[in-house]
Amino acid sequence: MSGLWAKLEDQLIDTHCHVLDYKEPDFIQKLNDSKITTHAVTTTLAEFKRLFPLLENCKHIFPSMGLFPLKAKEEGHNLEEFLDLIPQTKLIGEIGLDYTVPEEERVLQRQILEKIISKCNESGDKTLSLHSRDSAEDVFKIIGADFQGSAIMHWYSGPAELIDSAPKNIYFSVNTAMLKSRKGKEILQSLKPQQVLTETDGPYVKINAQASQPQDIRIVVQSLSQKWQKTIEETLKTIQENYARATNFSGA
Ligand SMILES: [Zn+2]
Repeated sequence: MSGLWAKLEDQLIDTHCHVLDYKEPDFIQKLNDSKITTHAVTTTLAEFKRLFPLLENCKHIFPSMGLFPLKAKEEGHNLEEFLDLIPQTKLIGEIGLDYTVPEEERVLQRQILEKIISKCNESGDKTLSLHSRDSAEDVFKIIGADFQGSAIMHWYSGPAELIDSAPKNIYFSVNTAMLKSRKGKEILQSLKPQQVLTETDGPYVKINAQASQPQDIRIVVQSLSQKWQKTIEETLKTIQENYARATNFSGA
């Protein structure tokens, strides 16, 4: 088992990892050495600016410019600059909505998300990582059926029925926490293989009280391979094909 994974490690994909939030000082270097394709999500513009130069020499880790919905109030003043930077940034996230707050804040979150999505639509080549806690219907509504790019629903926990009607440029990134929870299992049951990507949401997802590491994508792949009754190699191939569709817009 471990021998097989040693060979396959560079084929793993983590589309949602908060790389700056790990405590290990050499985390980024080690992660890049592992060759796991990683989308390094951020939650504020300041964090993105701090991350960007750190990834300059990393071939396998890609910076993603985010504005976390629960930070809408304190980050709102950076929105114009955020929008101006979108044309130069391929990955956008973590963005989205989080309805665990009062309505007045939700209104602000929606205004911000609408502006970001509309700007991303102008470019047409963005890959988003979206947070949608208790707000999936509105997130889908704002993305719209004609979104010119792709959207990855991160740790989706909304109604399973919405998955069926999701446009084909919407993907769902699955993490280890979802493999265990009742809701996560229900979501997994509803996802078609061609809609699935993988993520850790590290270091926030924990495995046995330890921060999840991008290497833990193995656990997700293993579980998907059982569910889909495919070999590990076939499962990785499906995820890689999905990833290519979600991120490569040249010629699309
Ligand atoms: Zn996250």
